Amino acid sequence: PHSRISDVCKRNGLLILSVLSVIVGCLLGFFLRTRRLSQQEISYFQFPGELLMRMLKMLILPLVVSRNMFPANLVEATFKQYRTKSIPIVKSNKAASESTTRRFIIYGVQDENGSNVQNFALDITPPPEVIYKSEPGTSDGMNVLGIVIFSATMGIMLGRMGNSGVPLVSFCQCLNESVMKIVAVAVWYFPFGIVFLIAGKILEMDDPTAIGKKLGFYAITVVCGLVVHGLFILPMMYFFITKKNPIVFIRGILQALLIALATSSSSATLPITFKCLLENNHVDRRIARFVLPVGATINMDGTALYEAVAAIFIAQVNNYELDFGQIITISITATAASIGAAGIPQAGLVTMVIVLTSVGLPTDDITLIIAVDWALDRFRTMINVLGDALAAGIMAHVCRKEFTKDGDEVRTRQNES
Ligand code: ASP
Repeated sequence: PHSRISDVCKRNGLLILSVLSVIVGCLLGFFLRTRRLSQQEISYFQFPGELLMRMLKMLILPLVVSRNMFPANLVEATFKQYRTKSIPIVKSNKAASESTTRRFIIYGVQDENGSNVQNFALDITPPPEVIYKSEPGTSDGMNVLGIVIFSATMGIMLGRMGNSGVPLVSFCQCLNESVMKIVAVAVWYFPFGIVFLIAGKILEMDDPTAIGKKLGFYAITVVCGLVVHGLFILPMMYFFITKKNPIVFIRGILQALLIALATSSSSATLPITFKCLLENNHVDRRIARFVLPVGATINMDGTALYEAVAAIFIAQVNNYELDFGQIITISITATAASIGAAGIPQAGLVTMVIVLTSVGLPTDDITLIIAVDWALDRFRTMINVLGDALAAGIMAHVCRKEFTKDGDEVRTRQNES
């Protein structure tokens, strides 16, 4: 039994360290709150966590570009084969039907900067200076969707160029391999960074005892909804479609879920989600590299769920009676708003404006939920990442192209020669 325990520790060392780091981060944060640190001391304390965020963000761009551009001759096939299949999965992960949602986006929802469909079109055709797009009220986020579309288009063209495209394809291949090597080293820093990321946030938050009873119930409702969605609905969908054990799949991506919890960002978690899906769940890398970045940008189950609950909470605080039609409107706009939210911390709070405006609720009341949003953001980001990973798993099954890492490489090489 002793050797078995050490075996398990060896195989899951990183995962165990990450779980411990979340616990240590919480304990340390609450302990240090009693010490009343100065703002300066808190910012020193948050530094290792900030480094972790930067490392993750640094990896996204080369990872997404290289994965979508190479091997170029496969990109086109992948597109043809999966383009039509990706959409139903995104759709089934959402609360409302896609056709209604889409119609709503095109004709109904207007945000301050024009219609969502216009913004979407602008996002997917970014000029070079808008690789990073600025979200009002939040930190700058990367335009992952634009990068995916650009790199995939490049990939298709490179494929058509035949031999003259080979140097760039090899470049992308090298870039991709070297980035994955950096990820493999960087993950050992993550548990350390997570401790400070979580403890730093706890040091910064408002006094938890000052959070009112109503806000407490609101937070509990959101968490319960996320638990039901993450532990029952999504795994059941995965099970019904693939007939495989969802627990095994979720175990494979635990590391990514913990990073999502620590960073509150689906985009920043992308490198780890890739790693988990390829190495632990053996999802076809061609599917992962297309579904994951797109999913991290538009497939946000957790955010949709939270936005709907938050809007109903704000209505109740204002003694505003919502009729059935308005509740349906809220669920549809919450889905649309979650598609519009970037995969960065608290982006959902910003797109809440769309939901509140749709039923005539005061948008200023978003400030009511800010006190607990940093915590809820972490949980909904976990569900967002879970939804993306399961969607990639389902896609891999639907396309019946699930190879091991080596198998994929062999096929890739055969295809290239
Ligand atoms: N933080 C979330 C994510 O990155 C988005 C949000 O709901 O604010 O997935």
